[in-house]
Amino acid sequence: MKRKHKGLDGSKRAVQAQLSNEGLRPKKSLGQNFLTDQSVLSDIVSAAQLTEESCVLEIGPGMGALTKELAQEAKKVVAVEIDTSILPVLEKNLQAFDNVTVINQDILKVDLDALFDEQFGNNSVKVIANLPYYITTPIVMKLLESKRISSIVIMIQKEVAERLAATAGTKSYGAITPAVQYRAEVFYVRDVSPECFHPVPKVWSSVIELRLLKEAPVFVQDEKHFFHLVHGAFCQRRKTFLNSAGSYPQLGADKETLRQVLTEMGLDENVRGESLSIEQFARISNALVEKKS
Ligand code: SAM
Repeated sequence: MKRKHKGLDGSKRAVQAQLSNEGLRPKKSLGQNFLTDQSVLSDIVSAAQLTEESCVLEIGPGMGALTKELAQEAKKVVAVEIDTSILPVLEKNLQAFDNVTVINQDILKVDLDALFDEQFGNNSVKVIANLPYYITTPIVMKLLESKRISSIVIMIQKEVAERLAATAGTKSYGAITPAVQYRAEVFYVRDVSPECFHPVPKVWSSVIELRLLKEAPVFVQDEKHFFHLVHGAFCQRRKTFLNSAGSYPQLGADKETLRQVLTEMGLDENVRGESLSIEQFARISNALVEKKS
């Protein structure tokens, strides 16, 4: 059942005209950079591989450019938007679709699993979004906590996309890298130039897909401890792993214990967090947990 595409044509001029007709200005504080390029919209939707059975959560529908594309392909789209003032425009642009539910809330405050139960029954959910960049990390970490999501296709800042897909030992590798790779496989879809948005942002963007793993790629005895270790290793980026993790209170491990573990694993005590692979983080975490018990 394909639905007809009506309303805003997605071009820059149409977006500008509609905003000014409604007396609205894009809100920088909410990361409002609206997509105005049809090829990017098409690439996001095709990366998501939607079927007529798909249940979709969109974060930040804005004026609805992506929402309309999703509504044409999926069974149902639930779109969570924080900006109350944009809702009349969004509703106008979505009036041709009967399979979209807009929820006016802050995504970071939504109980995702309760929302999924209520809106999608027990179906698995695909998350698709042009994310507000100022909260990319907390959103991604929150999505990865849900066991109901099967895949995530998101547009994010290019630099952050490189971080998520990085391998140990490279400049882009950071705390979020092993944290994300513990839960998902990361696929690069495409880069997006600033010119594809209104207003034009200062940075390039990338579309990536995160396919959630059914099983973690490494054995971790205590997940909470593993995540504390990863954060501790990078909390003082210029320092060695030992100095950074050793002064991270949530980890609760002193430098001497950390040194012992590194030595037992045959690692240099001056090793840096960015050189440690997800396997090594898992082994260090498991060894520390063992020592505590
Ligand atoms: N999807 C639209 C598009 O592609 O043109 C808009 C994307 S814009 C980059 C990000 C959207 O997220 C904005 O509509 C903004 O108001 C919304 N947003 C920002 N913070 C949010 C939050 N905490 N919860 C839900 N939506 C949020």
